[in-house]
Amino acid sequence: MLQKGNKLYSILTGSCPKCHSESMYKDPNPYKIGKLFDMHEKCSVCGTRYKIEPSFFYGAMYVSYAVGIAFAVAAFVISNLILGASLMNTFIAIVSTLIVFMPIIIRLSRNIWINFFIHYTPEAAKSRNPDSKEL
Ligand SMILES: [Zn+2]
Repeated sequence: MLQKGNKLYSILTGSCPKCHSESMYKDPNPYKIGKLFDMHEKCSVCGTRYKIEPSFFYGAMYVSYAVGIAFAVAAFVISNLILGASLMNTFIAIVSTLIVFMPIIIRLSRNIWINFFIHYTPEAAKSRNPDSKEL
């Protein structure tokens, strides 16, 4: 299921949304907090610019709200419904989940956001000339 050509592949791996050939991020590890937002300007394989317009990734904040809710609901289900924690402990579990997973939530949101606008193009993966294929 998780292979190149699938949007989930780009979203979960943070790879270029157009060719799925390389990571959009300078450091693939989101827990290096100082480099959390460091992205390449464009894909070295297909030449896609990641920042489609100025402040493009501000829109990812809307997505991060939804992704954050998903993580919070998961934390609620696991701690309260499955483990039977008290309401106070459930609250603590939700807050710590959101803090611990924040780098992942931020990156996931950016990946989902850019995948709304740029779609996988198999031909782009074959092109090796960064300047021939501008967005
Ligand atoms: Zn690419």
